Amino acid sequence: MKRRQFVGGLAAAASIAACAKQDADCADGTTAVASFEWSAVTSWPPKYPGLGIAVDNLAERVDKASNGRLKIKVYAAGELVPAFEVFDSVSRGTVECGHDASYYHKGKVDAAQFFTAIPFGLNYLEMNAWLYYGGGLELWRELYEPFNMVPFPCGNTGVQMGGWFNKEINTVDDLRGLKMRIPGLGGEVLRRAGGTPVTLPGSEIFTSLQTGAIDATEWVGPYNDVAFGLHKAAKYYYYPGWQEPGPTLEFYVNRDAWESLPADLQAIVDVSCQAINMDMNAEYMHGNANALQQLVDDPNIELRAFPEEVLEHLEDIANEVIAELVDRDPASAKIYASFDAFRQKSKLNQRISEQAFLETRL
Ligand code: CA
Repeated sequence: MKRRQFVGGLAAAASIAACAKQDADCADGTTAVASFEWSAVTSWPPKYPGLGIAVDNLAERVDKASNGRLKIKVYAAGELVPAFEVFDSVSRGTVECGHDASYYHKGKVDAAQFFTAIPFGLNYLEMNAWLYYGGGLELWRELYEPFNMVPFPCGNTGVQMGGWFNKEINTVDDLRGLKMRIPGLGGEVLRRAGGTPVTLPGSEIFTSLQTGAIDATEWVGPYNDVAFGLHKAAKYYYYPGWQEPGPTLEFYVNRDAWESLPADLQAIVDVSCQAINMDMNAEYMHGNANALQQLVDDPNIELRAFPEEVLEHLEDIANEVIAELVDRDPASAKIYASFDAFRQKSKLNQRISEQAFLETRL
């Protein structure tokens, strides 16, 4: 049997399965079928609704579509590598692929934040429009090239919630002294508004809120928040999630592993990621609707909109924070120019379509 091209330096293996029928390459006239076994590391707890389940779904689809020629074994956070070492492990080629959120790579590659979410940025529909048709994905791939990885949009939670608060937010002054779990650029915005942003892993949020170690937390939205029990630790549930209007999750593949795949398996990975990108959002849309109903029926919970004055203040600060990022980082400048050009054009289109329709339906 003739050996094919996919012998790579990676630990995990490509192997040639027994010759199947119809191959000219095999001495007995059957086909050499290349098969691959990859490991995917993630930043999520095992089988976590939405974020984590999506990776299992991805592996299952790829397995079925490839007739078992590409098997991806999924590892939850900490099973193979810690939650925040997914990027480096895939970059180095320790494992073939990973799933997390690109804004976790802030500090290492600041411009990556634009591909998850920035405060007052793009919603789910707009992120997809920018990534697939507005040049966003090309910029993303260019950004990850020095890290020897190929990224794919792979999931979106949709607009998140502003979060759970144990004190009312009526004016901008109420943000002063507020101790809140809120990561990333959103956290920096809160800090400049006079608050104290805290970074906590998901597993510590509930206890911190319940004991009063923090006054508030953002997490995701009703579906994930109820699963964490956050509604039992705070009274006010504020919207909208200005800090994360349509966060995209990412799947990325080590470039050597990617290039070892034949074109049909590459297409299967590509199409499966696109399917999961939609599927995760559908799961959130459905799960959020159900969980929100449960919350509004709960007499101990008050659902509240942030006052306009507060949102305007936060948006002004967010623009300042992003302007500084763009000033000091050329990659962020290039990506933000593309991102913001689309955002500005999209505003009117969204206002007269989705936004106008939803307001009419109310
Ligand atoms: Ca969040």
